[in-house]
Amino acid sequence: MRALVTGGAGFLGSHLCDLLIREGHKVVAMDNFITGNPDNFQHLIGNPGFRFVQHDVTEFTYVAGPLDAVIHFASPASPIDYLELPIQTLKVGALGTHKALGLAKAKGARFLLASSSEVYGDPLVHPQEESYWGNVNPIGPRGVYDEAKRFGEALAMAYHRTHGVETRIARIFNTFGPRMRARDGRVVPTFIVQALKNEPLTVFGDGTQTRSFCYVSDLVDGIYRLLLSDETHPVNLGNPAEMTIAEFAEEILEITGSSSRIEYRDLPQDDPKVRQPDILRARTILGWEPKVGLREGLERTIDHFRSLATGSA
Ligand code: UDP
Repeated sequence: MRALVTGGAGFLGSHLCDLLIREGHKVVAMDNFITGNPDNFQHLIGNPGFRFVQHDVTEFTYVAGPLDAVIHFASPASPIDYLELPIQTLKVGALGTHKALGLAKAKGARFLLASSSEVYGDPLVHPQEESYWGNVNPIGPRGVYDEAKRFGEALAMAYHRTHGVETRIARIFNTFGPRMRARDGRVVPTFIVQALKNEPLTVFGDGTQTRSFCYVSDLVDGIYRLLLSDETHPVNLGNPAEMTIAEFAEEILEITGSSSRIEYRDLPQDDPKVRQPDILRARTILGWEPKVGLREGLERTIDHFRSLATGSA
């Protein structure tokens, strides 16, 4: 298979490139570096199966040669990034998905969309099943991401129904691991970096909101299985082990042995109160479930951030 991965210099995109190369496929990675980082694919440079193209997928997108898969992972992906890059976030989810689908159609390639648990908004159904339509504030600060992902799903289904493009939709829940940006604002790198520096851990709100964290190797394995499957309807991918953010802060303090204290800050607007994927569809259709426990995943991620801090990475 020869696959295009948009957002190939990002956290998930670059791990996906690694997996595809490991599986013997050829990869064209594309990124405009607004949140991606070339360090994430340096180790693939010189690999005959790997090519990188610097390009903004919201503009007309052409890739020479055959493509069997177009995997659209490009997007700012943390709440702080959506606040700083609201228009780029909307554009890459809407115009970028359109360009990527057009390319998939022209090449006769299958298409996979990195959608998100954010399509469920601040959910009124718990855990979230794919049949739930969500509770999204379209005009709030997170709306730029949530609505772009929802539009992307609608567009993928329209290309499937109208043009017969083989489309796949992954609804990705909170994922973590090495290569997250230390300052992307998401809770996992934020707490780890704060703990390693013995600075206060900034818990937003009263810390009773919940999340369920999936380790990156599990997530990209699920993406790969979905790509190879025949499933057109959305599939949740995430780890159902749910915890409160206050519990998560305690876990980080324990694993790092940090002397940081916890400091409470205002809860951002529209911050979902609960989040846990129902992964029955992924289990039955893809034979997939997460294998890496939270502690093991966090230990690997903490090692990564420690080595960055000491310059040994
Ligand atoms: N959060 C926090 N402190 C931080 C960063 C995030 O308490 O420094 C909380 C945030 O309010 C949310 C949860 O952690 O409830 C997960 O936030 P993240 O930005 O990782 O992603 P989200 O799941 O909200 O998209």
